[in-house]
Amino acid sequence: MTRENHDPYAEIDQAFFADGYRLAASNLEDNLTRDSLLAHLKTQYSVIDSLLEAFQHRVESSGSHIDCRRGCSWCCHQQVLVMPAEMLLIADYIRTNFDDEAKESILSRAIEKDEKVQSLTAERALQVKIPCPLLQDGSCSVYAVRPMACRIYLSSDLNSCLQEFHQPEKPDVYPQLFDFPLHAGRMMNSGLIHYLKEKGISVHENRLEKILRLLLENPDKGSNWLSGSDDFGEGHEQVEEIVRLREKA
Ligand code: SF4
Repeated sequence: MTRENHDPYAEIDQAFFADGYRLAASNLEDNLTRDSLLAHLKTQYSVIDSLLEAFQHRVESSGSHIDCRRGCSWCCHQQVLVMPAEMLLIADYIRTNFDDEAKESILSRAIEKDEKVQSLTAERALQVKIPCPLLQDGSCSVYAVRPMACRIYLSSDLNSCLQEFHQPEKPDVYPQLFDFPLHAGRMMNSGLIHYLKEKGISVHENRLEKILRLLLENPDKGSNWLSGSDDFGEGHEQVEEIVRLREKA
């Protein structure tokens, strides 16, 4: 391999993919049910949270810092991609912890965002800034069970987030994100997705509000999905293009 072709994250990606796969196999091999999958997801989140804590210490001891703070929500206005299991966990949390009025309000915000974004091109979807339906008074209302994408999105510079928020159409303006957490979390999720696919479960990542609205409108969709139906794949061409454009950026 030439020096130019060397991917500095290839080994890290491989290691975290293998970890995600192995953890799924050890937790789910003899018992793949809705409950065991959601328990597994919580374990995976606690693994990544511990890793992020250690990462934060390393960043601070090297004289740098993570600029993210609870209540800072500039990044909660973009397209958040999740897998269905993550939204099952969130939908259960909402059903258990929120009253009817709050549930209705989340559902109506999810429908509103989904309907605004679903007809856009991927390029345009990456530019529009619409609050996540789970954002409440500037904070995440499901913080304890927020998806992987939100846990690993760590910025070294709030100003770069603000610039991107206010000038989303500028192709060379990006938040200054730490790469390591992004790779670690995404690849752990990929290992889990690979494991579930081997078990015959169709796993399409989709926009958070799309899966959320489907699950809140019809809770049976979660069980149907685990039994092999493909209810959460709608609009996956747009999502695949969003992923491609983000990787290219
Ligand atoms: S789930 Fe929570 S942290 Fe993630 S985008 Fe929505 S409000 Fe923000």
